[in-house]
This record gives sequence, structure tokens and C-alpha cells, in this order.
Amino acid sequence: MPSQVSIHPALDQGVKPGQANFKGGTLVCACTDRPVKVAIKGAIAHNHACGCSKCWKPAGATFSVVAVTSHENVTVLENGDKLKIVDPEALIRRHACTKCGVHMYGPVERDHAFKGLDFIHPERFQESGWPEPTFAAFVSSIIETGTPPSAMAGVRSRLRELHLEPYDCLSPTLMDVISTWVAKKAGTLRE
Ligand SMILES: [Zn+2]
Ligand SMILES: [Zn+2]
Repeated sequence: MPSQVSIHPALDQGVKPGQANFKGGTLVCACTDRPVKVAIKGAIAHNHACGCSKCWKPAGATFSVVAVTSHENVTVLENGDKLKIVDPEALIRRHACTKCGVHMYGPVERDHAFKGLDFIHPERFQESGWPEPTFAAFVSSIIETGTPPSAMAGVRSRLRELHLEPYDCLSPTLMDVISTWVAKKAGTLRE
């Protein structure tokens, strides 16, 4: 019997594999009038489900779907006047549509392992074929947005069923990237 736990409307029926040759496209917000359009040129990476309270998610979603791309790949095409930074102090400067609330892109500009990357939500691509999410990050954080702790075992087993290995921070690959950056900055690790 399928689990009743809802992860994200786009993932609940099973994770649809992306196309290996996906080369970017256009992200479109949810407005019917003057939608914000943002071009993403080239591949995206590290697509994952995220349980943090900061990422944008559609109605009914417990997790967001979020990936990264290089900042130079991001170009606002239309109606950029509707964008506003959600929290200018945050590491990720999420640019949201002030009308529909969708986060269109979030650059990391501060000195950080992720500097030069923008966080985007692939489900907003008007094109299909974007690489599927391959893990779930910040899973325990969904308690902060209202999931009861007693539901967590069910959520984690459902994520594994969807081949989204659950982690309570980022994936080991990304945690290693961060620690490597910190160690090089401190001089503990040489290039
Ligand atoms: Zn909008
Ligand atoms: Zn998040």
C-alpha cells in the first residue's frame, strides 16, 4: 500500500527521471499577469528535496525541490521589476516574485563554499527534462514548519522509497565541499 505521507506534489507519484542532455531553459513564476521569466543557460546540479523553512515550496508541499547553477548562467528576461530579495541578510539572497511569492533565483554572494552559485527551483522550468532530485536535505527541519515528530519515521521511509536518501543537513558530497572550503581557508588543508 502506498504511503500517505506527502513529500511534494511533483514527487508523490514517483520521481520522474530527467534527461541527460538537459541544457537549461526558462523559469516562470506563477503569475498569469506579467509573469517573471528567468533564463538558465546550461546544466543544473545537486537537485534535491529540501525540508528547510526558507526555500519556496508550492501549496501542499512538505519539501521544496531545489538545485544550483552558476550565477553567470542566470539572466532575468521579463518583469524583473516584480522581484524582491526575501531576506538580504540570508546566505542565499532569494529573489521572490512580490505577487505570487515564487522564488526565482537565489545567489550566494558572501564568502562561502557556495559563492558564485544560484539556488533555483527546477519545477518552475517551462521545459521538461530537468535532472531529478537525488536526495533529501534538512529533513528534520520539516518539524519546524508543522510536521509532528511522530510522523518523521514515515517521512524518512517514504523518501527512501522515492530514492531520495534523507539527510538532516546536506548530502555527504555537499557537506564535504563545505568542509574542504573551510579547511583550505584555515590553511589546515593545502590545495
Ligand atoms: Zn509571480
Ligand atoms: Zn531549503
